Amino acid sequence: MTADIFPSYRGRMEYFCLGCGKRFPADELYYTCPDCGGVFLLENLDFDRLKETSGEEWRKIFDDRAATKNTALRGIFRFYELMAPVLEKEDIVYLGEGNTPIVESSSNLTRATRMATAYKNDGQNPSASFKDRGMACALSYLRSLVRANDWDQLLTVCASTGDTSAAAALYASYIGDPIKSVVILPHGKVTPAQLSQPLGSGATVLEVPGVFDDCMKVVEHLADNYRVALLNSKNAWRILGQESYAFEVAQWFNWDMENKNIFVPIGNAGNITAIMSGFLKLYELEIIDELPRMFGVQSHHADPVYRYYSVEDAEERSYEPVTVTPSVAQAAMIGNPVSFPRVKHFAEKYETIGGEDAFHVIQVTEQMIMDSMIQANRNGHIACTQGGESFAGAKRAKELGLVSSDELCILDSTAHHLKFVDFQTMYFENSFPAEFEVVPDQSLSNTPELVISPEKKAALSPEEYTRTTAEKVVAKLGLESK
Ligand SMILES: *Cc1c(COP(=O)(O)O)cnc(C)c1O
Ligand SMILES: [Zn+2]
Repeated sequence: MTADIFPSYRGRMEYFCLGCGKRFPADELYYTCPDCGGVFLLENLDFDRLKETSGEEWRKIFDDRAATKNTALRGIFRFYELMAPVLEKEDIVYLGEGNTPIVESSSNLTRATRMATAYKNDGQNPSASFKDRGMACALSYLRSLVRANDWDQLLTVCASTGDTSAAAALYASYIGDPIKSVVILPHGKVTPAQLSQPLGSGATVLEVPGVFDDCMKVVEHLADNYRVALLNSKNAWRILGQESYAFEVAQWFNWDMENKNIFVPIGNAGNITAIMSGFLKLYELEIIDELPRMFGVQSHHADPVYRYYSVEDAEERSYEPVTVTPSVAQAAMIGNPVSFPRVKHFAEKYETIGGEDAFHVIQVTEQMIMDSMIQANRNGHIACTQGGESFAGAKRAKELGLVSSDELCILDSTAHHLKFVDFQTMYFENSFPAEFEVVPDQSLSNTPELVISPEKKAALSPEEYTRTTAEKVVAKLGLESK
């Protein structure tokens, strides 16, 4: 098989309901189970046929494909057979998603933490968050549906103030007719920055009075009664696309997962679900011979998954949604994660194979999240606040004795630093509202300094101005002439 040729293998995908166990064919558009409202996973009934190819052969296939110029195989679909092997080449949308780098922490940072850490920068995706992985898969699937059914219009709908809308609007705008993207948001509760990506991509932005939950109810009503594709977190096609994160991590390290720990922030819990599912597939096909350890991370301001797993005895655990308080890890600030049943499903499998120590959920404080993000970025990283949460999680895991210094902690920075830069500003300006409970380390504050006043400038000739300003810069920096 040459790397540029689109695979001939096709699977048979079905939705599998984690609520009632019923199965539904995947050539229909479902958001949740029509019988019980539960969340779906997508399963390939022909997965076992992939075992006819050895782990070693798969590694070679994926390594060869890493050099392909064929855009249908260049992004997340490098791992086509493991994700959505029902799509045709012409369905696949590629906007440069996936293949995000893993950047090892500098020696300075390593010295400071006495830990081996590396960031996987998922903010280096087209809309600047990992949500592009899921959307690339979901929108490719929708394109296949439009083609198969000859639909003349398909609306994609989502209710999100953040990265989900940005990614959905971007992918829909690339495909264009007959797919149109609609974003439904709470009126008066959205910042210009949150609106800018969907508006820029030409999405129809509809505002309704109320809060985010009101928007969710409206879009779920639409999905139940009309032909619209709902792209919020329950959408099972997004999970498949997000599995690519696990495949890429394994490939980056030459498929050797020994002494590797993965740290992922948990919000609605779709991402950690996908990453566990991805590693489990690699393990089943003997592409990797051990699972990396998984660490979900939650803020003490939004920690329902942490609370569930903090009960040692599995029999005693009971899931309770929590009321959240404001969190700097804003994209993970969720009190009732829709993918919780999925986490349970995969965590059990993960522990069955990797042992009890293979899966942990760590709780961190808002203070640790902010301090960690600032520290990472002062050492050459581009972490968002959720990336700070991953780093804080790794430090906390070390404190708890769960990781040792000869293990590599791979930290998910789920978005680009620039998307969440308002929190950096609050840190530098010491302007966090009290409910965040963050007290900045003032020694890390970084603010611009005015060298010369505009009045002074007006009083000087251009030459005098240049010389005076330069002299002031010299004095401030303590420069010596060469
Ligand atoms: C969506 C999102 C999260 C949370 O991911 P879940 O899949 O909901 O757990 C974390 N960080 C960023 C930047 C996000 O956009
Ligand atoms: Zn069901």
